[in-house]
Amino acid sequence: MAVYLKRGATAEAKADRDRSVRDTVEAILADIEARGDEAVRELSVKFDKWDRESYRLSQSEIQDCIDQLSGQDLKDIEFAQTQVRNFARIQRDSMKDVEVETLPGIVLGHKNLPLNAAGCYVPGGKYPLLASAHMSVITAKVAGVPRVVTCAPPFNGKPAPAIVAAQAMAGADEIYCLGGIQAVAAMGIGTQSIAPVDILVGPGNAFVAEAKRQLFGRVGIDLFAGPTETLVIADEIGCDGELAATDLLGQAEHGPDSPAVLLTTSEKLARETMAEIERLLQILPTAEIARKAWETYGEVIVAENDEEMVRIADEIASEHVQVMTRDPDYFLANMTNYGALFLGNRTNVSYGDKVIGTNHTLPTKKAARYTGGLWVGKFLKTCTYQRVLTDEASAMIGEYCSRLCALEGFAGHGEQANIRVRRYGHRDVPY
Ligand code: NAD
Repeated sequence: MAVYLKRGATAEAKADRDRSVRDTVEAILADIEARGDEAVRELSVKFDKWDRESYRLSQSEIQDCIDQLSGQDLKDIEFAQTQVRNFARIQRDSMKDVEVETLPGIVLGHKNLPLNAAGCYVPGGKYPLLASAHMSVITAKVAGVPRVVTCAPPFNGKPAPAIVAAQAMAGADEIYCLGGIQAVAAMGIGTQSIAPVDILVGPGNAFVAEAKRQLFGRVGIDLFAGPTETLVIADEIGCDGELAATDLLGQAEHGPDSPAVLLTTSEKLARETMAEIERLLQILPTAEIARKAWETYGEVIVAENDEEMVRIADEIASEHVQVMTRDPDYFLANMTNYGALFLGNRTNVSYGDKVIGTNHTLPTKKAARYTGGLWVGKFLKTCTYQRVLTDEASAMIGEYCSRLCALEGFAGHGEQANIRVRRYGHRDVPY
């Protein structure tokens, strides 16, 4: 039986917070629906103290942002974008269109069609998270989306140069400096100045994730990608307290609502890690945020064996799962619920967040039970088609169809089949 050395916030506390975010988002979406650009502008002033006639950045403003970065900055962004693009292309190539003759004369197929317009949110409230531009914009472009719109909030009262440069270098077609619910709503609902998109993608804080959730149905969304979560699975052979603590705090610094959980078979490692966390919180420049996250949501669980760790990890269904044990591949073989796995000590979540090439937009709040992260397939619709090549095939399938329609009492459907049996099979259908 697993033992909890530290527990995070209760389910009731989390539900209260969710309710308040839900109500705020609902009211704001209704306002933007009713008043469009005027509401967007008021909300941008209210939440971000950011006011402009048009939130779309001009070509010269974009160039100005790029010019503010050093040559090394630009090369590093380019390197990260190349890795993301390469992996997205490989994933795109793995999605083949299909056409097969399933029965004599019966041809079924599917085509993977890119969506026409995507809205890519790039978070930037607490940190200018430029990596999200690579993850969303590049992936949409590799999928073949012709119109890619992207929004990021102002940072320190103006567009964040590194975000804007990354958005432009990734190939965005329209770049807006707009944050939070108002950005998501402007792209999803559309306003007088921004045409609506077909899908909203990208991570964000609780407000951004909830706004996407509430707009789902009206537009597509990639997934529920809210405040970052991390789970470190470790044992004494694969890990030590300093490494585990570094990897927990590295993700807790995302925000005060970011859960970081240690799951281990070693009570000794658990206690060492907790002590290391206290030590690192004295020196980490982002300790104020990370401490809040750790104190409110951090958990330390000591399990009996690897099997129990798999069971608990699948229940948690964390966005990130870093495995530093004797045999990390055991978790790859057996775990079923996770956004992304980071196997072994040589890699870590930060590599995935920033540069290695897998997508960092990943499911949170247990959404990993039913979806993986953002990838090129989220920008493609798999649409089927069919044709029947011969009269015999049409009459043969028509007879089955006719009987099945009769079972359902669908006379009109049945007649669609019957007319073809009569025309192409030259016989009546006796049902
Ligand atoms: P953000 O851009 O997501 O949100 C900032 C915006 O939130 C602001 O522009 C403001 O308009 C709005 N806002 C702030 N307070 C508000 C309030 N009280 N009411 C209404 N709107 C409000 O930036 P952030 O806040 O720094 O959050 C980024 C988030 O993205 C973090 O929680 C991080 O963990 C998460 N993230 C998730 C993933 C993932 O894949 N799941 C990946 C990267 C980052």
